[in-house]
Amino acid sequence: MTDVLIAGGTVIHHDATERADVLIRDGRVADIAPSLARPAGAHVIDADGCWVGPGFVDLHTHLREPGREEAETVASGARAAAVGGYSAVVAMPNTEPAIDSAMVAQFVLDRGRDALVEVAVAGAITVGRQGTHLAPIADMAALGVRLFTDDGTGVQDPLILRRALTYARPLGVTLAEHCEDEALAAGGVMNEGHVSSRLGLSGRPALAEELMVMRDIELVRLTGCPMHFLHLSTARSIDLVRKARADGLPVTCEVAPHHLFFDESVCEHYDALFKVHPPLRTRGDVDALQAALRQGDVDAVATDHAPHAPELKDLPFDDAPPGMLGLEHAASITRGVMGDDPIGFFRALSRGPAAIAHLRARDERPRHTAHGGDVAVGEDANLVVFDAADTYRVERHGLQSRAHNTPYDGLELTGRARALVVRGIPRLDQGQLT
Ligand SMILES: [Zn+2]
Repeated sequence: MTDVLIAGGTVIHHDATERADVLIRDGRVADIAPSLARPAGAHVIDADGCWVGPGFVDLHTHLREPGREEAETVASGARAAAVGGYSAVVAMPNTEPAIDSAMVAQFVLDRGRDALVEVAVAGAITVGRQGTHLAPIADMAALGVRLFTDDGTGVQDPLILRRALTYARPLGVTLAEHCEDEALAAGGVMNEGHVSSRLGLSGRPALAEELMVMRDIELVRLTGCPMHFLHLSTARSIDLVRKARADGLPVTCEVAPHHLFFDESVCEHYDALFKVHPPLRTRGDVDALQAALRQGDVDAVATDHAPHAPELKDLPFDDAPPGMLGLEHAASITRGVMGDDPIGFFRALSRGPAAIAHLRARDERPRHTAHGGDVAVGEDANLVVFDAADTYRVERHGLQSRAHNTPYDGLELTGRARALVVRGIPRLDQGQLT
């Protein structure tokens, strides 16, 4: 294995920053010092002016394999992740068939073994994500699956969710909920409010999300099992999580980059690129989410990367499937919110999500190295070199994803990954896959 020298960057620790070079040998960080000599034959990554920190971890990636390989595969999604600066992603289980058995979980883990970044798997809570019968959570946990969710929808029946929480607790796994009460959101295609009324589109009310957050917090209080809230989109949802945490409950939450960037007004051209569940909300919600992220009240930015084949996203707003791409631009959006706070930036994109995904420590089953830890001698070398000043224009046909449904097309964004090292191997350098 070739030595790698990351030269000239600023290393971002969890509580401090340090101008230093980083030497990587045999997959681990071998030395950190202000000026290291270049070993013979080493691959040198120029990190001048860049932040050097733990590779990003995405808690919420729809890789679409098995079943919808025309939109994305494990391999293509992993390439998009590498360009985005991610060293690990968690593949969501709403595939076809769903990841609701050890067999399907093993299939995706096997697919991930050859991918450019590490691929962890989330399992479904219920069989077929139908919300009626518990999936074999223990079988999947035995393979190393640590996160369970019916994402796409939440578990609607509180009795089923209570049973799942009770069953999951001794297994040491975390349940994650897509919070939307389907009865209340039924038929809605965008946020319910003035804008939906003006456009004549039916709405999904903020309350549909908030009611489920409230219910789930109470079920966590009852069972003591940890829960992670996926893609929270309203100011009140974040407040509910803040209060639950103040009560000592084991709850965490993420926000998606699109909810940090766009408000509902972008739907006014009826472009289904902006259709997503939960929907884009009000400007007040966007501001509240940004403030919560800066304050550290949000544990993670997670992409909800949702590739769709072009013919589906070209459908009318009412008929198109919800979801948009995120892996390749989430770090730029996060950079925009966090400004010049690299410690908070890496907390949101790497340290926080790695902890929730149970990826902070090395694990033999499933085989993965440690992510989101300190940049320190002896640690696994999963590192990103991020140029926080690089301004570029998004071009939707220049993406690594198989799909093109990015909401950022044509926009100028600032901050992107210059290089990425996964398990000690450079996967990205000068912004290009190696
Ligand atoms: Zn979801």
